[in-house]
Amino acid sequence: MKQRKRKEQITRALTHIQLGETNAGKLAALDELAEVYCSLCQQYVTLFCTDEQPDQFRPPCFDTLLSERWQRVAIQQAAGIAQSWRTNRENAYQNYLQEHRAYHERHAAGTLGKKATEPQWREWNVPVLRQMCIQANANVALLEVAEVSTFDYWLKISTLQKRQPIRLPVKLAAYHTEELTDPKTGKRKALNSSVTLNKREGTWWLTLSYDEVVAVQTAPDAPVVGIDVGIANFLTTSDGKHYGTFHGKLRARHKRDRAKRRRKAKLRTCLQKKGVKKLPSTSSRTGQRLRRHVKHEINRAVNACFMDPAHEHVQFAYEQLSVATMKFKAKAMNAYLRASQLAHIPQQIAWNAAKRGRRATKVLSAYSSQQCSVCSYTDRKNRPSQQTFCCQVCGYEAHADVNAAKNLARRLGDRELHACQDKHAIKALLMSRHEAWKQHQST
Ligand SMILES: [Zn+2]
Repeated sequence: MKQRKRKEQITRALTHIQLGETNAGKLAALDELAEVYCSLCQQYVTLFCTDEQPDQFRPPCFDTLLSERWQRVAIQQAAGIAQSWRTNRENAYQNYLQEHRAYHERHAAGTLGKKATEPQWREWNVPVLRQMCIQANANVALLEVAEVSTFDYWLKISTLQKRQPIRLPVKLAAYHTEELTDPKTGKRKALNSSVTLNKREGTWWLTLSYDEVVAVQTAPDAPVVGIDVGIANFLTTSDGKHYGTFHGKLRARHKRDRAKRRRKAKLRTCLQKKGVKKLPSTSSRTGQRLRRHVKHEINRAVNACFMDPAHEHVQFAYEQLSVATMKFKAKAMNAYLRASQLAHIPQQIAWNAAKRGRRATKVLSAYSSQQCSVCSYTDRKNRPSQQTFCCQVCGYEAHADVNAAKNLARRLGDRELHACQDKHAIKALLMSRHEAWKQHQST
């Protein structure tokens, strides 16, 4: 039977378009607008994170100089921010409850380690919008094709002054123009009507986007390669390869960065004691740079994994990371930074698969690092060290991440495992498979 090809629509972004080559008056009007917009957006973020559920259609309720259309845009953006904050907080809270229950179970059974402490819940702060960011639609910021050839579009933005929109010239880079041009027809692809405006370090940047339909090329029965995600190795595949690492250069940079921040903090307290009013800032621009750099390295690693000739005709199975596994994998230094970076890896795998028309599927990751990929015996003791896997029953030895990746590969299409309600059920299932393996060995 001939299978119809699955198609996926992806949205590609055109970034780093600078809004600068225009007169200062226009940019001042934009600054003025952004100031009012961002403080209103913050009000709705706070409202949606505390007293009300996020609702992008909520009637306006705060006093503002903004037009009704601009208010709608702000409410919509705030609802999106609040929704993802609420989801992340809820996941973290559920995870805390699980850990809390496990702690008390072990406490009752008397199997608590000496160093174990009772998990504590610290309530999350409401997100604070630190950077100017406007996610606008055509009702407030309209992109028009320019008739003159010195630039490509006008971005017509309505401002605080009624009927006095500003028109900013938009010039695309040559590589953007090339990306937008259909090689067959020579026609330019249509841009989406929503745009994003960001102010970073004094400069306004525009992000445009367009949609593309990509056919999935990988056959559904293509051989499966599992991908384990981690810090020591960003990606480890079930065929025994590693791509990218947080260790080495990145770790050294991270250490330098932390030392610098500590010195700064010390200096501040010292100056504060002496009564100095104007203190050096503690905000870490280098920290942001490092995070960007780590993301860049992650992107490179994911790219290398997809481009590997050995992976040309395979499909991937990768981890559905939970907050708990992230914390476990990112334990030790500055867990938050590392956990947030860890979450970037599966996102990047999904994006790479979508844009290349490759098949990649998320699978449950519970116990994938403790499970023996040969006999299914699942035990923490199978991991004598971070690096090594050594099965207590069948004696199978491997790199710990490679063993985990093999388990993940096999979980693709494992309906029984994905039907499990919780981690306990998964462990029970794995151990019953181990029993079946033992029976099979003895006959
Ligand atoms: Zn084993």
